Amino acid sequence: MKLVRTLILILLAVLFPKSADAQEAVVDTTHQKYSYAEMMEDIVGLRDRYQQYMSYEMRDTTYQGRVIPLIYFGNPEASRHIMIQAAMHAREYMSSQLVMAMLEHYLCQMEVATYAGKKLKDIFADICLVILPMVNPDGVEIAQKGAAGAVTEDVRKWARAQFMEGNEYDQIKANARGVDVNRNFKTGFGQDKYAKPSRNFYYYPGIKPYSEVETRLLMKVAREHLYTCFVNYHSKGNLIYYGSNAGSDEVNGAALRLTNIIRRQTGFKPIPPDKSPENGSWADDLEVFFNRPSATIEIGSKNPVPIEEFQKIYRRNLWVWADLAVNLHTILPYGFSEKHIYPLAVVAKKINLKTIAKDMVYERNAEYGVAIKNITPEITKKKKKKKKK
Ligand SMILES: [Zn+2]
Repeated sequence: MKLVRTLILILLAVLFPKSADAQEAVVDTTHQKYSYAEMMEDIVGLRDRYQQYMSYEMRDTTYQGRVIPLIYFGNPEASRHIMIQAAMHAREYMSSQLVMAMLEHYLCQMEVATYAGKKLKDIFADICLVILPMVNPDGVEIAQKGAAGAVTEDVRKWARAQFMEGNEYDQIKANARGVDVNRNFKTGFGQDKYAKPSRNFYYYPGIKPYSEVETRLLMKVAREHLYTCFVNYHSKGNLIYYGSNAGSDEVNGAALRLTNIIRRQTGFKPIPPDKSPENGSWADDLEVFFNRPSATIEIGSKNPVPIEEFQKIYRRNLWVWADLAVNLHTILPYGFSEKHIYPLAVVAKKINLKTIAKDMVYERNAEYGVAIKNITPEITKKKKKKKKK
């Protein structure tokens, strides 16, 4: 008997040798609250293990002093780029865990896995994913820890006051300044029908477009490469929103092609742009100022998404990046090179972000009660082409 068992064990060892996959995973996907600190550890851990395929930068500092990391999967100098962001909304922090777990999967499979008959290594040889895995860490910390997730007393007080008014901590969408980052962009700023008049866990757009560190960072990163498309992770609904009411038919068509790729992987239902006015969201700005398609993947059945749903969400989303990479050339309109149809010079004229540095001022803002660093980019006034809508 013993001999048989030994023989079986030897046979198994030969048939299933320990692959890179058998190493202990860096990203833990078994617990609910994937925190900012844990994510930072994971980023360093993955970089140490897979340096040749990944790097990261520490970028802008939030109101509560957390530095927002930016990850490059692949060579930043590649000729094509996809920008990915997650956890713009606080309570949607599972999106960070999903993006990090997917990143680990791709990294550890680069030299072994194939997709559509090609090695991942070859698929991503000239494509770089530029990833902001947690855009709003200050908000995430409040969603996970309540007022204790705040660093400064003014934010703790404000968060407690929100709680007393009936807003649950774990439902917060805003950043620590009470601004909904995804309502703080220029296109349609303040037009959201749910817009709140002052800082709130939800839907307050801020005093002006780009008043928030998180918003400005997204705009800056969006200008650093010539992206083919943008993929945004939010929750909930198991849906894909795409395009913008404010975008051109051409770019909305591209957004639909992008979405069809995501749909065939995830099975999530695509939702076309509706007729309501744009509301200061990231997707609106992307299509109007950058003339690029974007898709927003909404994961999970409720917020925060219960960890029990993670594996299913993960399996449905896992191959999206590979599928996008293989089919990237099909997304933008036929007959034009990416550079031809979407020149960055046009974007630069539309948004003069150079003024960001110049306009950096410290203003005492009565609304927030404390001195805050406020940077406001000027949108150069282009003669508006007839009222849109
Ligand atoms: Zn969201």
